[in-house]
Amino acid sequence: MLPTDLLDRTRAGECTKEDTTLLTNAPLPELFGLADALRAEAVGDTVTYILNRNINFTSQCIGTCRFCAFRDPNGYRMDISEILGKVREAVKTGATEICIQGGLLPDMRLDGYCEILKSIKSEFSDIHLHSCSPMEVYHAARDGVGVKDALVALKGAGLDTMPGTAAEILVDRVRERICPDKLNTEEWACVIKTAHKLGIRTTATIMYGHIETMQDRIEHLFLIRDIQKETRGFTEFVPLPFMPYNNELGSEMLGSGNYGITGIDDLRMHALARIVLHTHIKNIQASWVKLGTKLAQYALHCGANDLGGTLMEEKISKSAGATSGEYMSPAEFDWIIGKAGRVPAVRDTRYSHQQQPGGVATR
Ligand code: SF4
Repeated sequence: MLPTDLLDRTRAGECTKEDTTLLTNAPLPELFGLADALRAEAVGDTVTYILNRNINFTSQCIGTCRFCAFRDPNGYRMDISEILGKVREAVKTGATEICIQGGLLPDMRLDGYCEILKSIKSEFSDIHLHSCSPMEVYHAARDGVGVKDALVALKGAGLDTMPGTAAEILVDRVRERICPDKLNTEEWACVIKTAHKLGIRTTATIMYGHIETMQDRIEHLFLIRDIQKETRGFTEFVPLPFMPYNNELGSEMLGSGNYGITGIDDLRMHALARIVLHTHIKNIQASWVKLGTKLAQYALHCGANDLGGTLMEEKISKSAGATSGEYMSPAEFDWIIGKAGRVPAVRDTRYSHQQQPGGVATR
């Protein structure tokens, strides 16, 4: 049985790092049961997803992240007309959100990012642009531009919200080993807080299941909670398991007999996220691309209440060994969610509007 004072603190959104450490060793039915009860309290039985498209506009990158299977020195690079062609296709299928991210091009500066955003908005003023990871913002802000001015320019060009990617594990000791040239923890937090203060909401992510310890994951969750207390700018938290294939870090792990994260640990991570972030971040996403549809469905009983997007094209996870498809239809989302005993609803990026199949608006 979990201690009553721990349960009280958790329900109040005040569980401590010590409570969380204790929960990591709790019997799984108790851990999952608590996360599921908090999910019900926070968002009820509705499970959401969004009609969207990912566009990874280039696979070339000057980054050196050791977990990356996407970077390719001879890779592709889309021009604006190719990007617009993909947006047109997405809009025809009913997508409301376009997520554009790409490698870091040496000749890509703030103007280049703004040009992409402006071109899309000038043809599709209603589409929601969920783009520019904190690392891309940092890249755009180089040469003395500064993070705040870069974000103001990107927002002016049409940026609506940002993915909170490039977070990996927000502990510098780990970052130095897995992505030494990426922005550090303080810099990531600075980009995110500046965005939130400018009215650009973001998601928050964690990439777990490599060299980090459970304590590192807990530090990460508490940093996200602290930022949320300050800004209220996060829309959702997305646990992303590390994919160990076709990259340097994964090869090292596989070579030493570590086959990566297991399904149980995936579910534990989603449950811990729900518990630590309770009353602070309402939405915990289970990524069907990373987890596969069956485990993502089960995660709905371990604290998750969102399944991400229909996602035409998602090259980054696939390069690293994700086996799920590149597109899942709304009908299949509804099927999976219904079979989990929950009520499906299509949402917008900010979770400000939800529509159940058949057209019933739920809020
Ligand atoms: S993760 Fe992103 S920044 Fe890092 S090497 Fe890969 S494409 Fe570049």
